[in-house]
Amino acid sequence: MNPESEMKKLDDAILTCKLCKLSGTRTKAVPGTGRIDDVDVVFVGEGPGRNEDLEGKPFVGSGGKLLDELLKNAGLERNQVYITNIVKCRPPNNRKPEDDEVATCTSNYLERQIEILKPLVICTLGATALEYFTGEKKMGTAHGRLTKTKGGIALLPTYHPAAIFRNPSYREFLQEDLKMINVIISDLKKSRKERQSSLTNY
Ligand code: URA
Repeated sequence: MNPESEMKKLDDAILTCKLCKLSGTRTKAVPGTGRIDDVDVVFVGEGPGRNEDLEGKPFVGSGGKLLDELLKNAGLERNQVYITNIVKCRPPNNRKPEDDEVATCTSNYLERQIEILKPLVICTLGATALEYFTGEKKMGTAHGRLTKTKGGIALLPTYHPAAIFRNPSYREFLQEDLKMINVIISDLKKSRKERQSSLTNY
């Protein structure tokens, strides 16, 4: 099966999922949107908010508009990247997803999404995604520092766009972190090419 068909099958499972209590209060589940085949970067937020729950798409509210602007400034367009969340259904009143909800949703869906997409870079947006991937809780020291996921994918943590509404001084950090992504991608592509050409020399 090609990545598009595999993702379609997974999206269908997410849209009808009843594995945790968030399914009882959601309007629409929000699997994710963006490029599937040959995607360089996957963004992972926390969970759908009110607008996302109504539309079934991630980051379409005010945080999403801000994300679009910052992505554009960083030379990235939505249709080049894939955007999803740790949990695919809106937690009531936008509360933080609970541990059992995170565990169920990531083990059934996020892990599989990453397997299908095989991105070069994962960029986490906010504390929930940071903690899921790294166990780290302090955004102040973690953001903008390139590490790796357990599976060896380059991981760049940064702030959640909504954090900027509470603290406008974070905007500069988020923007600078996003600007690193294209540099990381071209470095990774360059070293991959070099590795391939050194192998063909033998
Ligand atoms: N906040 C998130 O973390 N994800 C969304 O999709 C929207 C708001």
